[in-house]
Amino acid sequence: MIDYHIHSKLCRHGEGDLEEYVKSAIKKGLIEIGFCEHFPQEFLIEDLPKKYHNLIPIEDYAMPFDEFPNYVEEVLRLQADYKDKMIIKLGTEFDFLKNKIDFISKEIRKYPFDYVYGSIHQIYFNGKPFAFDDSRFLNFYDEYDIDLLYEIYIKALEQLISSKLFDVVSHLDLMKKYGFRPKDTSKYKSLINQILTLIQKNDLIIELNTAGSRKKVGEFYPEDFILLGAYEKGIDITLGSDAHKPNEVGYKFDEAINKLKNIGFEYIIKFTRRKKQEYYI
Ligand SMILES: [Zn+2]
Ligand SMILES: [Zn+2]
Repeated sequence: MIDYHIHSKLCRHGEGDLEEYVKSAIKKGLIEIGFCEHFPQEFLIEDLPKKYHNLIPIEDYAMPFDEFPNYVEEVLRLQADYKDKMIIKLGTEFDFLKNKIDFISKEIRKYPFDYVYGSIHQIYFNGKPFAFDDSRFLNFYDEYDIDLLYEIYIKALEQLISSKLFDVVSHLDLMKKYGFRPKDTSKYKSLINQILTLIQKNDLIIELNTAGSRKKVGEFYPEDFILLGAYEKGIDITLGSDAHKPNEVGYKFDEAINKLKNIGFEYIIKFTRRKKQEYYI
């Protein structure tokens, strides 16, 4: 099996160095892994008023910008050192910001990525950020209407997808992480349906991310109706644990694969230098 969503202590909220993840993956019998470390986030606050900087504590979310080349080099070193035991891919998880498309595009072209994930971890109200997957800001969920939060989140996803910068849309329904669900489910379903259509049109894929199972919500990202919708629209899928500790590599993959097979998926996707290839399950 393959696990394409792996972090490490480099992102400042994970544990263990990259090599520990490789060893854990070998022990668990995986044949291929991809590191998907958070891309440095200085660009997220560059144009943000100073009074809001504490609402996106980037030093807890990713390595500093000047450290990123070392990450790339270390992944390439491990790729060579372990080539007889494991295939190792170079990825990154980029936070999308619509005013920074040129920057993101330039950075993506700088490195020999096998794949690039696009993520939304913050949304904005009149310029004020809400890092909705950070437990320090949960009070925002009380302050705003949950359906409005989902609407803004989905709008941001729409812009991410339309930017055509990425290969994979990360954890599509991340906003459910702490158990806050949309009230108007029929509206939510229709918004998700639009998002899936846009993903399909832009030839992007989604991931089945098992990390949600370790969080308050207690289930994978995305939930079943979204997986089914993706399958029906012919959207491909890849698989990731979103590991932030070495022993989380391959987390609940048996369950994940069963779920995908039951829906009808016959393969998941792997990437080499941003070219897709099927991996039959
Ligand atoms: Zn992370
Ligand atoms: Zn993420």
